[in-house]
Amino acid sequence: MPVRTSRVVSFDDLRDLLTATGARLRDAVPLAELTTLRVGGPATVAECASTDALVATVRELDAAGIPVLLIAGGSNLLIADDGFDGVVVRIATEGVEIVGDPDRGEVAECSVIAEAGANWDAVVAATVEAGYGGLECLSGIPGSAGATPVQNVGAYGVEVASLLRRVRLLDRATGEIRWVEPAELGFGYRTSILKHSAAAVVLAVEFALRADGSSAPLGYRELANALGAAEGESRPAALVREAVLRLRAGKGMVLDAADHDTWSAGSFFTNPVIPDADVAAVRAAIASHVGPDVAVPTFPAENGVKFSAGWLIERAGFAKGFPGEGSPARLSTKHTLALTNRGAATATDLVTLARRVRDGVAERFGIRLEPEPVTVGVSL
Ligand SMILES: Cc1cc2nc3c(=O)[nH]c(=O)nc-3n(C[C@H](O)[C@H](O)[C@H](O)COP(=O)(O)OP(=O)(O)OC[C@H]3O[C@@H](n4cnc5c(N)ncnc54)[C@H](O)[C@@H]3O)c2cc1C
Repeated sequence: MPVRTSRVVSFDDLRDLLTATGARLRDAVPLAELTTLRVGGPATVAECASTDALVATVRELDAAGIPVLLIAGGSNLLIADDGFDGVVVRIATEGVEIVGDPDRGEVAECSVIAEAGANWDAVVAATVEAGYGGLECLSGIPGSAGATPVQNVGAYGVEVASLLRRVRLLDRATGEIRWVEPAELGFGYRTSILKHSAAAVVLAVEFALRADGSSAPLGYRELANALGAAEGESRPAALVREAVLRLRAGKGMVLDAADHDTWSAGSFFTNPVIPDADVAAVRAAIASHVGPDVAVPTFPAENGVKFSAGWLIERAGFAKGFPGEGSPARLSTKHTLALTNRGAATATDLVTLARRVRDGVAERFGIRLEPEPVTVGVSL
């Protein structure tokens, strides 16, 4: 009897369809094993270890009208307990190449090209170890190189949009493969035209590097202070990487299987950007709850002001570790912005906690927090 776990297509039919692609097909894989939140029910997984296999697999599945979920590191996904009805295409390519040799006068061309599935932090580490700067502020971010443009990954004052040279895309509608410029990708705060979209697969990314080994200018006070630098100054990339990893670890933002504070998708909510016209009213609402003398952490943003979601969550009554020991899903004990799985949480537990926090903040301050991870089969 053929195993039939998917309602849309049988495993045997899939095996026939994908035989020539080079993908490794596995049935009924618990997606919890592929995500950092460690939740998600079963699905058929087609693992693609080469770019050719990835392209061929996605093309076949698209042509057959079979739903596809792309997963690389699984660190920005909240997947339902009943899994995914279709095929999960696991991006497992690994190639990384540093291009340009400053000793031969090729300084202007220095860059790193990584296949989509390459581990992002390993890419950063390789560039720093080779003596190049540029990517160090994005050290310790879990997941793949290819996912970094999807939500315009950012940390410590740097976003990939400002470092990317180009992105190699498979256009799923036309089948065309081409390098595109960052300007074509509609980057914004934790978003791009690739997020929540099935239009394209990132096959590779290329990032510009600094040949002198210095860091990008430090744009985040906490990091600059940790390095004894002024904002806007640079420091050797290796020192900045070390400082970033230290700061991130203190917040549970570096994966550590032994630490449940890192069984998360990182920040669960984005920092809300309030349009300029509404900022005064929001500040007044906040002051009426926390008092006029309490400073509210904010950051400049395009067309508005960005408020700290972590601060709003804490001030709305959700402390670190909420709702307390014994709960399967809790806020991280190090950082209110991370929702965490303490070992036995389901996607439903995490959704329940997320709604409670989101609704509490809305009730207290009139601000609706939006989730940062991509949700599959669940809605908040
Ligand atoms: C502890 C922790 C800390 C984090 N810190 C940060 C942080 O500081 N800053 C930050 O921005 N994020 C952070 N994140 C979120 C996450 O690491 C990033 O968003 C990361 O880029 C996701 O990569 P991934 O390979 O795990 O993507 P996945 O979770 O596998 O996928 C995420 C989304 O991208 C799509 N996708 C993946 N690969 C491709 C591809 N090649 N082409 C097209 N679509 C694709 C998927 O379909 C999905 O919709 C953190 C997460 C954790 C767990």
